[in-house]
Amino acid sequence: MIPGDGIGPEVTSAVLRVLEAAEAPVEWTTRHAGIAALEDGSPDVLPDETVDEVLRCGVALKGPCTTPVGKGFSSVNVQLRKRLNMYAAVRPVRSLNGVPTRFENVDLVIIRENTEGLYSGAENRVTDDVVISMKVATESSCKRISHWGFRYATQRARRKLTVFHKANIMKMSDGLFLDAAQQVHQREYPNIEFQQMIIDAGCMKLVQDPSQFDVLLLENLYGDVVSDLCAGLVGGLGVVPGANIGDECAVFEAVHGSAPDIAGKGVANPLALLMSAVMMLNYLAAERSDQRAAECAERIKAAYNRALEDNQKTRDLGGELGTESFADAVIERL
Ligand code: ATP
Repeated sequence: MIPGDGIGPEVTSAVLRVLEAAEAPVEWTTRHAGIAALEDGSPDVLPDETVDEVLRCGVALKGPCTTPVGKGFSSVNVQLRKRLNMYAAVRPVRSLNGVPTRFENVDLVIIRENTEGLYSGAENRVTDDVVISMKVATESSCKRISHWGFRYATQRARRKLTVFHKANIMKMSDGLFLDAAQQVHQREYPNIEFQQMIIDAGCMKLVQDPSQFDVLLLENLYGDVVSDLCAGLVGGLGVVPGANIGDECAVFEAVHGSAPDIAGKGVANPLALLMSAVMMLNYLAAERSDQRAAECAERIKAAYNRALEDNQKTRDLGGELGTESFADAVIERL
């Protein structure tokens, strides 16, 4: 467990209470990252012992972490994903009963390349007047995420995969990403319908009619931005979970950040992290054949769905509950 910063400790402690009440088959150890790590005496936002512990456990549940700006630290989230080689971010975006939004039945999965692109961290000041930020694309990483995306789509019986890109302008970097996806599709996954779209047009179509999309595959920055856009289709950042997955380990975290504007007020919605915990239990069930984890995931999911249907909601969803009282509402329905 990495509690994180801002609303992180509040939402992680609420989620832990739900998991304990559901008797989730998990023993926890806690390690810090972000400002919490600095306050704990670490010289860096991502201590080695946190990385080592995630590797040892193979899974982690993580709250949002803040990287102080202008102090020479590189982003804790980017570092963690790179050091643990968690190259795929998965973010399922689904409508929830009890959370009315403009569209019904939204059911999208965002798959984001998590290690390179414009988040490669290669930034330089060239002159007093100019800074540059490099967008990195490597053929092996583009192919790796394409394989991952098509395999995921196949295993989950999804019908279509769409790549959002800007290969008309960034002909080399986005061109490589697009080519890799096209090749992997043609050679190995003709079972899945493939579509490619320039990202600006794709965003417009997403907000006009999300039902025309199924699985979205994007490079790092686009995946970050489009995740928040899609969160807006189903009720906001309080209801979208996520996973960072590599070959050795997986870290489950909500799409939202540390939300400093509401931190410490007890009003943050813990549901996105709770949904991430459900993804974690399902991952444990699949990777370690843990039937108890699968059953526990189902119970928690049914309980939060019932809570929402009973109009038990936090303020971001138009309700009046705080972080802990929403957790109580879920626990009552387990
Ligand atoms: P980051 O840069 O770390 O990704 P961000 O700029 O996307 O963060 P967030 O911290 O995710 O910003 O928050 C954006 C807004 O959404 C905040 O103003 C906050 O009020 C709201 N928000 C985010 N998460 C939650 C939550 N779990 N519950 C309620 N409101 C939230």
